[in-house]
Amino acid sequence: MEHLTKEQVEELKKILLEWKSQLIAETEDTVGEPLSYEGGDEIDRADTEAGRMLMLRNLDRDRKLLKRIEYTLRKIEAGTYGICEMCGQQIPYPRLKARPVAKLCIQCKEIEEENE
Ligand SMILES: [Zn+2]
Repeated sequence: MEHLTKEQVEELKKILLEWKSQLIAETEDTVGEPLSYEGGDEIDRADTEAGRMLMLRNLDRDRKLLKRIEYTLRKIEAGTYGICEMCGQQIPYPRLKARPVAKLCIQCKEIEEENE
């Protein structure tokens, strides 16, 4: 990651660490909420059920993101951060700043999306 200055790496690391603690706090909040919906009528119950499904989906998404952030932080430590995992090209700083967990350059990302 020679294309990134020490300051840029520190900046991105800071963003990732803040994001990580925010996600951990959110995940803990969600788990702490009661899941019971006793006593509601059918409509309330359906709403709660849908809300619960959504919450679990969000939780799942948060956990995945958290793993991704930890993975990215390990790459920073290993010095392999900011290198596209498909083609080995350097990922420009503005892209990393916009999406710090990016592991592909824009070109490879587009190819990957086309193949999906
Ligand atoms: Zn690439």
